[in-house]
Amino acid sequence: MRISKTFFKTFRENPANAETKSHKLLVRAGYIKQLGNGIFTYLPLGLKTLENIKAVIREEMNKAGAIELQMPILLPQEIYANRLDTFGNTMYKLKDSTGKDYCLGPTHEEPFTYLVKESINSYKQLPIILYQIQNKYRDEIRARFGLQRAKEFIMKDAYSYDTSYENFKSSYNKMYNTYNKIFTRLGLDYLPVEADNGVMGGNNSIEFMAKADVGEDELVVCECGYYANTEKAECVVEEINTSDIVKLEKQMVHTPEVKTIEELTSFLNTSSKNFVKAVVYSTDQGIVVALCRGDREIEEVKVRNALKLTKIEMATPEEIISIGSVAGYVGAIDLKNAIVIADNDIKNMTNFVIGANIQDYHYINVNLENLQIDYFADIKKAIAGDLCPKCHKPIKIVRGIEVGQIFELGTKYSEVLDCKFLDEKGKSQYMIMGCYGIGVSRTLSAIVEQCSDEKGIIWPEIIAPYKIHIVIANNKDETQINVANKLYEQINSIDDNVLIDDRNESFGVKLNDAELLGIPYIIIVGRGATNNKIEFIKRKDMSKLEVDVDEFINQYKKSF
Ligand code: ATP
Ligand code: MG
Repeated sequence: MRISKTFFKTFRENPANAETKSHKLLVRAGYIKQLGNGIFTYLPLGLKTLENIKAVIREEMNKAGAIELQMPILLPQEIYANRLDTFGNTMYKLKDSTGKDYCLGPTHEEPFTYLVKESINSYKQLPIILYQIQNKYRDEIRARFGLQRAKEFIMKDAYSYDTSYENFKSSYNKMYNTYNKIFTRLGLDYLPVEADNGVMGGNNSIEFMAKADVGEDELVVCECGYYANTEKAECVVEEINTSDIVKLEKQMVHTPEVKTIEELTSFLNTSSKNFVKAVVYSTDQGIVVALCRGDREIEEVKVRNALKLTKIEMATPEEIISIGSVAGYVGAIDLKNAIVIADNDIKNMTNFVIGANIQDYHYINVNLENLQIDYFADIKKAIAGDLCPKCHKPIKIVRGIEVGQIFELGTKYSEVLDCKFLDEKGKSQYMIMGCYGIGVSRTLSAIVEQCSDEKGIIWPEIIAPYKIHIVIANNKDETQINVANKLYEQINSIDDNVLIDDRNESFGVKLNDAELLGIPYIIIVGRGATNNKIEFIKRKDMSKLEVDVDEFINQYKKSF
């Protein structure tokens, strides 16, 4: 491709709203352009890179026997009737001219299951894994980080249908292995971590996490090989014998203008470990008060799972008043109409401090028997130094970008949509399902997050839009133009993997752009052209080598 003939522009300045390296670089290097909040255009180079990622995914999915098809994006809303509440406002809903309700597909379990239900009826047609690479639409409250969290994004989604859990396990393992192959080939530094199944239910789920400081997920990592999302990671609670401790009488104290835990601990001259903090949620089961030790945080996903909630959000100040409390002073004494769930740590606490449900008041010397706790569960978020639930050594926390996830779905969707098959004995049974997603566009940004330096992107060869980037040092020098053109024509006749910067720009501008674009090999056609010599530069380390043009072309034919 000749840069002068393509649709191409680079930018020196970072886009105003970009927070992450990948967002900045992809926009500056002319791979993507934002059209609206969370909505992006893939420019020619971006599209080619994306297609290269899709090609790796397709190749590995096809090798695993998965079958590609394409579902519509515009879907009748009624097929999602059973989980409209779960999607809430994230689903884009629209009406046609007759008033019928439609939506833009946020994920496609239902459409695939309808298709399978109507097309498959015998065990002889199973197992089957179907997939598509398609746009998805989610009205993300916080679209951000460019392609990482967009409102329109590209997903590879696959769905498996099996006759038994045993057979499902084999489909699931096949996809697990396929995902490892895909992310390894894409050059990602990633971890497969135990993940929360959330509303899907079932026991098996793995998220594939690209390691990155800007990752939105926190991961527990242990040297024993235990990797888990903090949403899922089990916290080990030490057994402490509290029977010898003298329990004091609870007492209400005036704590005026004391709002934060830090202020409270210094006011009462105690440690945050001696404080029980409360977080109040509004849920489908009513108001839930979650308690944990003052030095820890509640993990909302664990609360949702422990109480099997379908909706959970922070309660409003009015809702807090409705349970007989007040924001900032919530405790678990004398509450009305609230479900109280406490973290297991609280079982070990004695003579502690808790909000008195009255503005500016706390209780001190509180003990377990003073509290109205409905459930105990592991609801705190794991932190570095906690003990690994597998080997009991201290864990580390790293951040990751979720690029893919595989799930056991069981019969959740097949029961709701009545997707059955006839077994060997002619008995009708629900199909056992799994689903397997890869964020294709998010993967693109995760790769840039990992593969870049201060000058620009450094693409892994397999997904680079081009392999070779020719720069003509002096656009007025006939010899340089001739040598560059010869090189370009010859390589271009072998494959479509060469880009030539033939613009009337200075050498400095063109070299900067080459570094920004990140194509793995840069060839400078400069003064050496008179002796048929070119400079071959590896983008990764900018190491240089002078080579003969004809030798290079021969080498390219043989081994590139
Ligand atoms: P997240 O927790 O990040 O919101 P999710 O778990 O809801 O994602 P899935 O339903 O598992 O997402 O979708 C499969 C894959 O699609 C994810 O692993 C992720 O890589 C990608 N993905 C999900 N939401 C977005 C988004 N808003 N923008 C880009 N990619 C996304
Ligand atoms: Mg997910």
